[in-house]
Amino acid sequence: MKKAKFVFVTGGVTSSLGKGIISASLAKLLQARGYSVTIQKFDPYINVDPGTLNPYEHGECYVTEDGAETDLDLGHYERFLNTPTSQNNNVTTGRVYQTVIENERRGDYLGKTVQVIPHITDEIKKRMRYLGESGDYDIVITEIGGTVGDIESLPYVESVRQLLWDMGPENAIVIHLTLIPYLAAAGELKTKPTQHSVKMLLEQGVQPDILVCRTEKHLTAEMRRKIALFCNVHQNAVIESIDVSTIYEVPMVMLKEKLDKVVLNKLKLKSPHEPNLDQWRDFLFRLEHPKSEVNIALVGKYVELPDAYKSINEAFIHAGAANECKVNVTYVHSELITEGNAPHKLGGFDGILVAPGFGNRGIEGKLTAVKYARENNIPFFGICLGMQCSVIEFARNVLGLKDAHSTEMMSDTKNPVIDLMENQKKISHMGGTMRLGSYACELSKGSHALKAYGKVKITERHRHRYEFNDKFKKRMEDAGMKITGTNPDTGLAEIVEIPEHKWFVGVQFHPELKSTVANPHPLFVRFIKAAME
Ligand code: GLN
Repeated sequence: MKKAKFVFVTGGVTSSLGKGIISASLAKLLQARGYSVTIQKFDPYINVDPGTLNPYEHGECYVTEDGAETDLDLGHYERFLNTPTSQNNNVTTGRVYQTVIENERRGDYLGKTVQVIPHITDEIKKRMRYLGESGDYDIVITEIGGTVGDIESLPYVESVRQLLWDMGPENAIVIHLTLIPYLAAAGELKTKPTQHSVKMLLEQGVQPDILVCRTEKHLTAEMRRKIALFCNVHQNAVIESIDVSTIYEVPMVMLKEKLDKVVLNKLKLKSPHEPNLDQWRDFLFRLEHPKSEVNIALVGKYVELPDAYKSINEAFIHAGAANECKVNVTYVHSELITEGNAPHKLGGFDGILVAPGFGNRGIEGKLTAVKYARENNIPFFGICLGMQCSVIEFARNVLGLKDAHSTEMMSDTKNPVIDLMENQKKISHMGGTMRLGSYACELSKGSHALKAYGKVKITERHRHRYEFNDKFKKRMEDAGMKITGTNPDTGLAEIVEIPEHKWFVGVQFHPELKSTVANPHPLFVRFIKAAME
């Protein structure tokens, strides 16, 4: 049984400073020192989970092994630490209120007025403590979403204040991430926003122990002294977080700044050894010294916001490093692809990936992209909706079923090659009702998939409602599209391939969610290899 210590990470001045990456980097350094670490994220919005959010609002929705739809920062945690997270690692205001209101209806607070303090803060504190009480972790890092000063984050900061008091300074500390902006006209870095943001935290009763200062230019010793003085922190607890070219450099930057040492000192933990980062360094070296280069088209409809495809992007980075190959990903807007311009839009690429997605917008462009890849023998990787598109395209253009479609896009098609599962048909609620989380899959002999994974039984994570319609299986297989991965429990088709083609693989699941620095995903690695040839 381990007794966990807690590190809370708040953010000030502006959003998008990279709290998730700083949390993941610190966790990596502590893990590399032999500690067992987990990271959790508390999000101040009122959605119960981000599953119902449009990717334009909040980027990709990350799915855990146990089927929770969560914030994309959990993806960073897993990619850095190579350990799975669960639904307990992401809590939203919606989830907290839902629980408190259910308790109230049940009569748990009978006779009492239910209030933000103590009822909401008690529920937040309970959830903040939860993973630490499992006995599995030495250190739990808790990232508080949003920016200090937002109305929405007040109950979280208040909960942290209470927990710091309950736990004591040797068991719980606060890292505050701020921005030191550079004013080009003045030629100066400015510390004032940091001072104000720490003041705001102090008004809410929280004194940060460590400041991580995001900056594009190095801080001078004098600036560090000034920040320390104005913000009541030790000078060695002013940590510079300089902009770097890849997020995977950040653990190295934090190591150099001794963030891990400062944290351990404050928590009165004696580190067993210096961080063992050999594998990480090896990965970085491969990433930064590629021997070749490939160009991949990512065809999707959310291309204006790269965060919508976060995990796919990261999986390409891992697979590129594994192949010592630089992977240039170009976003191609599916709405802009037509039969006529496909050679122009897609001609120069070594591989084409058709992305996951929902709804009708841009679907014809995706189908055209599949057709172009299939007919021109260009390595093709279809993920979730991308796999479904590969089935529709094949049915239309090889089987000659001109109106073949998914019933998601055309409910009255006579050839529903992709259709709702029976148990999905009765569901009317949108939140948390898809096929979610990890499912088993068995791979066929001779398939690209089996070659990639090197084993027959695998598990992968899902997030979709529609499935390959088994009624068309025989005709598809006879015409050359094989089902090479099947769910052993339900018989559902999980992978399709065209063996005649150089490398044509469509997967109903989301392999990108399981790609990490330590374990680049085998299908991405093989796809890049095929593109390199
Ligand atoms: N819209 C499709 C479905 O629900 C695919 C979902 C996805 O690509 N994640 O089945």
